[in-house]
Amino acid sequence: MNTPNTSGPDPIPAVPHRPFDQHGQVDNAATESLLEVPAVKVETAELARSVVAELAARYQDAADERPWVVAFSGGKDSTLVAHLVCEAIKRVRPSRRTRPVLILSSDTQVETPAIEQFVAEQLDAIQTGSRAVNLPITSHLVRPELHETFWVRLIGYGYAAPTRNFRWCTDRLKIRPSNTFLRQLISRHGGALVLTGSRFAESGARAASLRKHTAQSVVNPHSTIKGAYLWPVIRHFTTEQVWEYLALTPAPWGGHHRRLQNLYKEANSGECAVALDETTQPCGNSRFGCWTCTVVKRDKSIEGFIGSGHDDYAGLAAFRDWLCELRDNPKRYREPIRRNGRPGNGPLTLDVRAQVLDRLLDLQADVGHQLISPEEIAVIKQVWISDRLIDPPELPQIDDPHDAGHTDEETRRSVVVDLPMPTIGAVGRTAGEDRRR
Ligand code: SF4
Repeated sequence: MNTPNTSGPDPIPAVPHRPFDQHGQVDNAATESLLEVPAVKVETAELARSVVAELAARYQDAADERPWVVAFSGGKDSTLVAHLVCEAIKRVRPSRRTRPVLILSSDTQVETPAIEQFVAEQLDAIQTGSRAVNLPITSHLVRPELHETFWVRLIGYGYAAPTRNFRWCTDRLKIRPSNTFLRQLISRHGGALVLTGSRFAESGARAASLRKHTAQSVVNPHSTIKGAYLWPVIRHFTTEQVWEYLALTPAPWGGHHRRLQNLYKEANSGECAVALDETTQPCGNSRFGCWTCTVVKRDKSIEGFIGSGHDDYAGLAAFRDWLCELRDNPKRYREPIRRNGRPGNGPLTLDVRAQVLDRLLDLQADVGHQLISPEEIAVIKQVWISDRLIDPPELPQIDDPHDAGHTDEETRRSVVVDLPMPTIGAVGRTAGEDRRR
């Protein structure tokens, strides 16, 4: 592993203007594609051309062997990064395509169902399409640890739904899974270059941050992960140029970006960034966040989907509002003692947690999409037992919905019917009391 050079000018190898096909021949058909599309304005095409040239040059930099990671949320900016990276590597001779490129996405497991499905399909399309034309690009989806998921924290441990001041979710659901993946990659390769979709035009705060970080070099060390470097490759694109380019050029992995445009139209908004550190904007403040997000007052994304005909999401929106209500009425729904044994707003009562699980399973049956996994339910059961909120004999076996021989409805019923619905009086212990032992 060579030490990355992030200060001085890099040696820039010559980059062929024309792309190669999988046999190493100049691909005339591809040459006609995106960069040549006349409908893209000259200024946008030139900007894309310069980014592709820069990417292709750095890709071939023999002095730097770090793998590339594209931080991919499935939104417009990270899609453009992935798009331009594919185009750049197509312009590199196949024999020189030795640097692995990883498309990294995180699934919080509480993504809006349409977004979850779209991102999974995009990851598959990018990897399959890249393999077909001999590009060393692979897709990777990371998820939170089981004991860290939204539902295990809320239903198992009784965490109140997150607020701006008690935002316990982003780190657990997004930052840690991505960072763990990065650290493992760095331990194998000695370093990694993370290509982000950060742009000056996103906001004043983003512009100030980018100006500060790119003053000396466009590639800068990650704030917390040693060996990781960030490279905002499309920093000079305006929002209009991002959309213009995606709308008018075919996806290099096949197909087009129309589904992405439609999703934005349905959600009437922007995307939730891949959170790489604590400075990342709360995704709840924007757009394609978790459907459970209670950090925002109104979830405009879900409202947008409902307004676009996704009537089935009305139940998700109502459930989210109910989570806010449980959080905001501590006297009624929360223990009067914190988990550390001090007086104050403690965890949700066990009765409330059991109700949340019950209603969540009802909702899951209604929307026909997995909202909580059997594995999460099993961990919730363990947490309740280990917190001594309930005795093991009180918890029956919970069927695994993946087991053959059970219809979804039978499985759901067995979980709902068999799970105890204790009241504090009936159980006789509360989280706070348990902690005081
Ligand atoms: S979208 Fe909301 S709930 Fe999801 S991680 Fe971001 S802040 Fe937390």
